[in-house]
Amino acid sequence: MQHFLNYNQPNNGLTGYVKNSVIVKDLVIVKDLVLIGGGHSHAIALKQFGMNPIPGVQLTLITDVTYTPYSGMLPGYIAGSYRFEDCHIDLRLLAQFSQVRLIRDRAIGLDLENNRVLLAHRPPITFDKLSIDMGSTPATLTVPGAKEYAIPAKPISQFLQYWDQLVDEIVQHPQQPMRLAIVGGGQAASS
Ligand SMILES: Cc1cc2nc3c(=O)[nH]c(=O)nc-3n(C[C@H](O)[C@H](O)[C@H](O)COP(=O)(O)OP(=O)(O)OC[C@H]3O[C@@H](n4cnc5c(N)ncnc54)[C@H](O)[C@@H]3O)c2cc1C
Repeated sequence: MQHFLNYNQPNNGLTGYVKNSVIVKDLVIVKDLVLIGGGHSHAIALKQFGMNPIPGVQLTLITDVTYTPYSGMLPGYIAGSYRFEDCHIDLRLLAQFSQVRLIRDRAIGLDLENNRVLLAHRPPITFDKLSIDMGSTPATLTVPGAKEYAIPAKPISQFLQYWDQLVDEIVQHPQQPMRLAIVGGGQAASS
C-alpha cells in the first residue's frame, strides 16, 4: 500500500520507507534528516547518500539556490574559461539521483522546541536531526568603503549576479572607463 507524503505536514509518527516521495507503509521507522544549504558540504552528502542510501532515513535539502557553484572553478568562470553550466551543480538532478526531497526556499529560523526549520515562503519543516552548512559571508559592513565599492566573493551566487551585471554594463558602455581593483593576491586573484 502506498501513500503520498504531504511535505507541508509534520510526518512524525509515520512508519514507512520513503522512496521518490512515496511511503511504502510499515517497513521501517522514518527519521527525518534535514540539511540547510546546498553548497559543497551538502552536495557531497547528497552524492554519498545517493550511492549508499540508509533505509528509514528521509533526507531533505533546504536550499535557496537551484544551481550550486563549484568554487574551485569560479576564477576560471570569471576569466571566461568556463560556462555557467560547466562550474555549477544542478541540485534538482542531484536530489533526484539521491532520492532526496528538495525544498527551494530560504531558512529564516529554527523552532527548537518543536524541531522545525522556519522557511521564508513555506510552512515549517520538521526534523529529527539537522545539519546546517550555509557557508560564510564576509562582514562588509565593518570594513570602511566595502559596502559602497566591494563585491564580496561570498555568497558566490550573489557574487555571480553582481559580476554578470558588471560585465553587461561594460558591454553596453564600452567607452566608459572603469577601474577594477582586486583585494587579495592568492590563487583566485592571480588566475
Ligand atoms: C573563489 C573560491 C575558491 C575556492 N576554492 C576552494 C578549493 O579549491 N578547495 C577548497 O577546499 N575550498 C575552496 N574554497 C572554499 C569553499 O568554497 C568553502 O570552504 C565551501 O564552499 C564551504 O562549504 P559549505 O557547504 O559550508 O558552504 P557553501 O558551499 O558556501 O554553501 C552554502 C550554501 O548555503 C546556501 N544558503 C545560505 N543561507 C541559506 C539559508 N538561510 N537557507 C537556505 N540556504 C542557504 C547558500 O546559497 C549556498 O548555496 C573556495 C572559495 C572561493 C570563494
